[in-house]
Amino acid sequence: MRILVVEDEPGIANFLRQGLEEEAFSVDTADEGPIGLEMALSGEYDILLLDWMLPGMSGIEICRQFRKTFADTPVIFLTAKDTVQETIFGLQSGANDYIKKPFHFDELLERIRVQLRSKAGDLGPLTLGPISLDLNTHQVFKHDEEIHLTQKEFALLEFLLRNKGSVCRRTRIIESVWDIHFDYNTSIIDVYINALRKKLDLSDAEPYIQTVRGVGYIAKEL
Ligand code: CA
Repeated sequence: MRILVVEDEPGIANFLRQGLEEEAFSVDTADEGPIGLEMALSGEYDILLLDWMLPGMSGIEICRQFRKTFADTPVIFLTAKDTVQETIFGLQSGANDYIKKPFHFDELLERIRVQLRSKAGDLGPLTLGPISLDLNTHQVFKHDEEIHLTQKEFALLEFLLRNKGSVCRRTRIIESVWDIHFDYNTSIIDVYINALRKKLDLSDAEPYIQTVRGVGYIAKEL
């Protein structure tokens, strides 16, 4: 899952980046309104976190502009403003939710998950054959045995499962699971895929994660 954080206070931006990356999200940040809008309009993000007061353009304006193209991507405001009028104004601009500063990271995380769940419309775990991935508890099981994955391995498996049955191109995997500035030529995806297959004990008889030569990978039911 890829998140864009538009926040001009470096302390908060770094805190969010660190916390969200620990939860296996891929995080990009912008510290000015216009740059944030431009990044948001790339369409690469699953959810936006927007500060309200930003240099160059307010979070409200970013949300309004963004909503002209992207109706379904969740937007959450981070705001110190908390009067009823301003909150209504924020939601009218197309935001799905807002959280008041200072906030507890756990509360923000829960709100993010609620938005992503309602967008996806799926409350249950993602599954692939005997494998299941629980987004709420961040656990992965094969049959009933828990498989311990690193954050990136988890994010990679989640991406493949969300796109089950479709070929995932290498560039799409990199953009979704790793950072926007990542070197596309690297073989790191292959390293992580191999690690996943090993941890999930996917022998040749269980080719749930298949290589599509020259293109990418596909998670497939057998
Ligand atoms: Ca601000």
